[in-house]
Amino acid sequence: MAVPSPPFSLSKHSLSNSPSFHASNPPLDPSKASALGTQNAIGSKANLGGVEQTHLRLWNNLKKNSDLRLQASRERPGLTKELKSDKSERMERIKRGSDLFDEMKQRFLSFKKHKYMQNLELYEKLAKGQAPKFMVIACADSRVCPSSILGFQPGEAFVVRNVANMVPPYENGPSETNAGLEFAVNSLKVENILVIGHSQCGGIRALMSMHDDVETSSLIGSWVSVGMNARVRTKAATKLLNFDQQCKHCEKESVNCSLANLLTYPWVEEKVRNGELAIHGGYYDFVDCAFEKWTLDYEESNLKDKGGRVAVKDRAFWF
Ligand SMILES: [Zn+2]
Repeated sequence: MAVPSPPFSLSKHSLSNSPSFHASNPPLDPSKASALGTQNAIGSKANLGGVEQTHLRLWNNLKKNSDLRLQASRERPGLTKELKSDKSERMERIKRGSDLFDEMKQRFLSFKKHKYMQNLELYEKLAKGQAPKFMVIACADSRVCPSSILGFQPGEAFVVRNVANMVPPYENGPSETNAGLEFAVNSLKVENILVIGHSQCGGIRALMSMHDDVETSSLIGSWVSVGMNARVRTKAATKLLNFDQQCKHCEKESVNCSLANLLTYPWVEEKVRNGELAIHGGYYDFVDCAFEKWTLDYEESNLKDKGGRVAVKDRAFWF
């Protein structure tokens, strides 16, 4: 028996899935389609049922397509344009995301070739363990990466970053920052802790923008309220300054607040008292690209009394 030819040039598969009807295909009348296609082309009733099914699907698909076109034509042209534009923007975003990872891959391969493979001895040693001399506590802000601005190499600094580079006091209980602190001080036995504040800090702006008497439900508000002492001192010392200037003052004051909070951890205080650990403050101004550094003077600090303050020494400006 001869294999029946399909009634149209479209395959059965393509009919059932209707993947690619062109807009120029006119919708067909099912009665004409049946008359045209089945009896003449097949010549046998044996296959008629299957072919008619195919025609029915074709008709339904064509009709659906036609209905969709009709519906689309009823929409405002602006809306159709917006939908198309949304889709192309989405595609563009996906492509940009893919490009970002292509770039990231190239950066990683470049690091591997030029840094890792060129310093294999160092990386083999680091694979066995770490013994950094510094713990650095810096803001999560994307502009203030400590390794980028201070040149820390792998293995040199144990880094914790959080919103506004805060150190909560011991009595506040566990947080990821003091978990890192405990590990750095008691396990890694770092010799220095450096807390780095920075210019234009959004976390400090949030702290300075809070209302005095309103409990915040915001997670950011709850977190930055760790620096409430810094805010109170800033407000008292900068009454005549504008808000931006007050924030800048608080960016440094909050670093000192964090240095004082470090001493509330008994194992930090003990090591500082014994001279095994030094704690430092830093301030990175990325507007003028300057760095200010100071060291807590434990002997001269007065933290026992309420309202006591840290004393600092060895202040230096790098610009
Ligand atoms: Zn910040």
